Amino acid sequence: MPDTLTDLLFPAYGVRGALVEITSGIDAMLGARHYAPDVRRLVGQAIAAMPLLASHSKFEGRINLQFQGKGALQMLVAQIDRHLQVRGMAKAAADAQGDFETLMHDGTLAVMLDPDAGTQGYQAFVPTRGATLSRALEGYFAQSEQLPTMLRLALGPQRIAGILLQRLPEGSFDADGWDHLQILLDTLGEEEHGAIDGATLLRRLFHEEDLRVFEPRPLKLACRCDRGSIASLLLSLGESEIEPVLVEQGKVDVTCEFCGQQYLFMPDEVRQLYAAERSEPATATRH
Ligand SMILES: [Zn+2]
Repeated sequence: MPDTLTDLLFPAYGVRGALVEITSGIDAMLGARHYAPDVRRLVGQAIAAMPLLASHSKFEGRINLQFQGKGALQMLVAQIDRHLQVRGMAKAAADAQGDFETLMHDGTLAVMLDPDAGTQGYQAFVPTRGATLSRALEGYFAQSEQLPTMLRLALGPQRIAGILLQRLPEGSFDADGWDHLQILLDTLGEEEHGAIDGATLLRRLFHEEDLRVFEPRPLKLACRCDRGSIASLLLSLGESEIEPVLVEQGKVDVTCEFCGQQYLFMPDEVRQLYAAERSEPATATRH
């Protein structure tokens, strides 16, 4: 089962949509950090949301969904890049529990467009009221795009799933058709959503509708970290930060916060990095 983002169109109603299915890489991304069940569910839903946020954007760059708080959930980050590669992580107390609003209540949640060189960045806050991330993001779309949007996100045992329906910005819009689609979508429970494949979902909800399903686009749930990016991180932290660690521990151990991959750097290698940076223009090694 390939991991895909599929665009949808209900031409008679003036409504577009997008469907996300991910079945690979879930254990690698969510398993390394031993999340409490409610946190794991939230990270999975945040990952499902990212391709939907990117589905119609002409934006070229990286989209981040980012939460910072002071309660049991301290941080949640999900990212997607222009190649539809997604990753997500959270920092939370081992006993963190509750629905979306409970976990989010004392922090801020934002969608950030992190542009490639030459384009404009953008940040918008997502309201954190409502029991689910889906509802919160519906509020975000209503505010930022002024378009009615329905969103459902699910983490199943072997599946990350999401579906978005949105009024088209132009053309004729059928309000009764929209209400009809909402009734159909409301019959989809989160547990079922996380258990059935996309084709089954579309058949089950919309088999009587005039629905156009476009060619699925491949996406990938995987971390972007590699030894080179960790080396860049060490450079950006600076020699004065890292040298004491080398002296004290005889190595630098860096664990990727997203996927849990460990990177071990020995003193010679780290000192060569700094030496190389000193002898090169700074732009050659910074990212
Ligand atoms: Zn990683």
